[in-house]
Amino acid sequence: MAQRRAAAPLDGLQTRAERTNFVETSRYDDVQTFLATVDASSPLVHLTTSGYTFEGRPLQLAVIGKVADPRPATIKASGLLRVYVQANIHAGEVEGKEVMLALARDIARGQHADWLQSMVLIVYPNFNADGTERVSLINRGFQHGPFGGQGTRANAQGLNINRDQIKLETAEARSMVRLLNDYDPHVMIDLHTTNGSRHAYHLTFETANNPAVDPAIVTQSRDWMAKMSAAIKARDGWAFRSYGNVSGQAPSRVWTTVEDLPRYTHNYWGMRNRFGILSETYSYLPFAERVTVCRRFVEEVLAYAHTNAATLKTITAAADAAPLVGTRQSIRSEVARTGTTEILMGDVIEDVNPYSGRIVHRRADVAKPEAMADETTFRSTDQERVPTAYYVPADQKAAVERLRAHGIVLEAVTAAVTSGLEVFTVATATAMDKPFENHQERTVTGTWAATDVTVAAGAWRVSMTQPLARLAVYLLEPRSNDGLATWNVLDEALKTGRSPILRTRN
Ligand SMILES: [Zn+2]
Repeated sequence: MAQRRAAAPLDGLQTRAERTNFVETSRYDDVQTFLATVDASSPLVHLTTSGYTFEGRPLQLAVIGKVADPRPATIKASGLLRVYVQANIHAGEVEGKEVMLALARDIARGQHADWLQSMVLIVYPNFNADGTERVSLINRGFQHGPFGGQGTRANAQGLNINRDQIKLETAEARSMVRLLNDYDPHVMIDLHTTNGSRHAYHLTFETANNPAVDPAIVTQSRDWMAKMSAAIKARDGWAFRSYGNVSGQAPSRVWTTVEDLPRYTHNYWGMRNRFGILSETYSYLPFAERVTVCRRFVEEVLAYAHTNAATLKTITAAADAAPLVGTRQSIRSEVARTGTTEILMGDVIEDVNPYSGRIVHRRADVAKPEAMADETTFRSTDQERVPTAYYVPADQKAAVERLRAHGIVLEAVTAAVTSGLEVFTVATATAMDKPFENHQERTVTGTWAATDVTVAAGAWRVSMTQPLARLAVYLLEPRSNDGLATWNVLDEALKTGRSPILRTRN
């Protein structure tokens, strides 16, 4: 009886976007009220919080599934595939937030009941919640709505959360990593809106593609995106494609994907042996259409996750258990040009935001094929042989704290280690002139060699026989293109001409 009586509130429940005919997007309080209503009306949706924004807003977390409560222990004990979705990391890119709210409601009303046999969803609908509250009608350039305004790209510190996964300087990235360590999702999805190129795709996507990522994860991810795209084409008629931006002048233009660095969330997730998926809905589709397109993407991605749940779990477990010691792991890479590919180029029509008077762009229904150089994959340019362990001295407190925050296991060294060690001698350590995210990124060259330098008791041993070893290598190798040295964590120590972090093959 309780359930039947409670079903009524969901019948009329609308998101702020739906209620305003897609003129406005949901703010923090709208997300709270909406999800609290769904939670109160359904045993399938649990509203909780996990972590904080820089300004202290508790990050709203929706846990959706056939589970008694939203605690990590309960979710992990269920044995279900755990799928994490984050929307709104860039708070002007809002349709993912609206999609995940509406999806929570619709699942509560009985849609997609089959999915809940195999998986549970763990959702940050409003990840950059501080940015969401900084509404302006001009935050997103030519993007076609919402005309009532949207939030900012950066968080309240002025930092881009989607460049923060290695250095962990935002409360939001730290909260998300804590969530990953607590819930250990198998699949992670990050919903965005495009920024630039006038192509003809309704949505572009990317998966973790750094050459250091477990190859079985890369292969399965490509199969996943191919089947998702085919399903969309067949049912909706829309062209989806792997992510790219166009540069150069015709006829020698280039289609280039996003960098493969783990500072980006989807690549970071790959480095953690998990499926990392990025989506970018086309920004010149009117807001209401972007919500529809993003919803279909999420539905097809989740349909595949449901069908392949057992396989996805097997692949991530195998990647966690893969012996890495003695293998060569990529620590630097560059985009590879692999011939030419046909890109469907689009066009836009000018509209006016009636409230700001500013010109916005609307997608024109044209698709002009154009051959372009294909830069959608990466090749390793530098590797290191994975040691048995690294040693981090106790006085490298910032490095130790970062490793712990990432969830990497550190073992206390109780007796001095005096043999079998290698030390890294720095040849060059060049800082970028141009600051990026408040840093001058450092590029280090040099070599490892046997040493009689010793490790004192009190240091920390980082074993390379642990699930996050792949990430640890990327963080700790001085020559890594996105490690602790890159982000200035080791700057003082590197002035001595040696890395403070030793390693051993014993
Ligand atoms: Zn974005």
